[in-house]
Amino acid sequence: MMQLQNFIGGQLVAPAAGRYLPLVEPATGQVFAQVPDSDAADVDAAVQTAEAALTAWRALAAEERGRLLVRLAELIERNLDRLARAESQDNGKPLSLARTLDIPRAASNFAFFGTAAQHFATEAHVQEGVAVNYTVRHPLGVVACISPWNLPLYLFTWKIAPALAAGCCVVAKPSEVTPYTAFLLSKLAQEAGLPAGVLNIVHGTGPGAGQALIEHPGIRAISFTGGTKTGQHIARTAAPQFKKLSLELGGKNPNLIFADCDLTKAVRTSIRSSFANQGQICLCGSRIFVERPIYEQFKAEFLAQVQTLTVGDPLDESTRQGALVSEAHLQKVLSYIELAKQEGGRLLAGGERVRVPGRCADGYFLEPTVFEGLAPDCRVNQEEIFGPVVTLTPFDTEEEALRWANGTDYGLSATIWTRDLTRAHRVAHQLHAGVVWVNTWLHRDLRTPFGGMKNSGVGREGGLEALRFFTEPQNVCVKL
Ligand code: NAD
Repeated sequence: MMQLQNFIGGQLVAPAAGRYLPLVEPATGQVFAQVPDSDAADVDAAVQTAEAALTAWRALAAEERGRLLVRLAELIERNLDRLARAESQDNGKPLSLARTLDIPRAASNFAFFGTAAQHFATEAHVQEGVAVNYTVRHPLGVVACISPWNLPLYLFTWKIAPALAAGCCVVAKPSEVTPYTAFLLSKLAQEAGLPAGVLNIVHGTGPGAGQALIEHPGIRAISFTGGTKTGQHIARTAAPQFKKLSLELGGKNPNLIFADCDLTKAVRTSIRSSFANQGQICLCGSRIFVERPIYEQFKAEFLAQVQTLTVGDPLDESTRQGALVSEAHLQKVLSYIELAKQEGGRLLAGGERVRVPGRCADGYFLEPTVFEGLAPDCRVNQEEIFGPVVTLTPFDTEEEALRWANGTDYGLSATIWTRDLTRAHRVAHQLHAGVVWVNTWLHRDLRTPFGGMKNSGVGREGGLEALRFFTEPQNVCVKL
């Protein structure tokens, strides 16, 4: 059986203690590989080799570092098919999605930050005739990048690329649930000629390798994407050591559909924002608020399109819904479907596990599920489900829609559907969400600040924000 390896000091190595975890293919329920169950010794070796590589890496011109990252981007593009297949096998997502979203975006992350580093400038503050202040931005040092299972290579590289571009050395840990493409990335990093020790990838569990990484005194910053509870734990652990933190956490995102919207586009995009990647994207809109005059029409068209979402083998080109990531996650989502019924929700579509015939008979498939009739403050409308389950709720006024949209502990993203430009801006500015889309969803420009408000996180990724995060500003004041 295939055994994944850690990537430490430019070498693919087995975990020191020789322990492995089984890796399950969600579409089949079968173990297909083993992933290192690394511990503090592996993490320490990775941090040490990263520290050793730091002086030379930060001394390289940004252009040179950038060239290596762009080479890595090209290698990802060249290996698109292989990486997409690995991502789909590991995560359960449709192969077509991995091929068009996950892997191309991983390549873009390296290409973008490889070139962005060359445009990264610092400020000068001139006190005319008195003094000149200028800011130097030093790379922070060795940093940790920890990522979740939903968009494995996409989110892993979204952290690693800016850290490397800024001149930091990295010890990264992908999710133990979906480590396959991170392992393949190690090989591409070797092929790209990344200097040994600059990027290290340690596999293992959160409480094992992850905990050792966040506790390690050699780590100067932690860039984390994952659940809000894990984020709280990381913040508690890192704060006494004054580690810099970037936390991208959960969401419970609203879609606000106003009566004057382009209904066809609003329905089509809301289908994507509800069910893309089986609803397992932190930016998915799980609470759909529709202005009452078009509520019934929106509902009818939305439900008609839900029926067209084929649940099936992720390798099949016609599949629109693949498997959920694990049996445990499937059970969690099913428990929320039960809760929705207990809370008085009317089931409009889905709600059941799907048995896909053939090789996927034991896979973790679920019907896309829609409820209505749930109060905005019930648990199903407050807690992150992170699966293909959405609720529809009619609203009467803009003020009511805003109150409900903002009425959760989360504040990651939101979508607004309207043709009224003034209202679009007015509502956007009042939403407690770090990312707002008007008449679109998941439209990304990598230069923009990305992140959440409230319990959805601390700090912003993307563009210059990410390069600022991985650097330490130092002011130098020169008397004139
Ligand atoms: P998770 O928090 O369980 O795990 C995320 C990562 O943290 C994994 O690599 C895990 O091994 C590691 N980890 C767990 N405990 C740790 C510890 N004690 N120390 C160090 N590392 C530890 O999250 P998940 O279930 O993999 O991902 C789903 C969550 O991620 C959802 O809540 C989703 O909203 C969130 N998410 C957020 C964004 C965003 O950009 N805001 C993007 C994608 C996913």
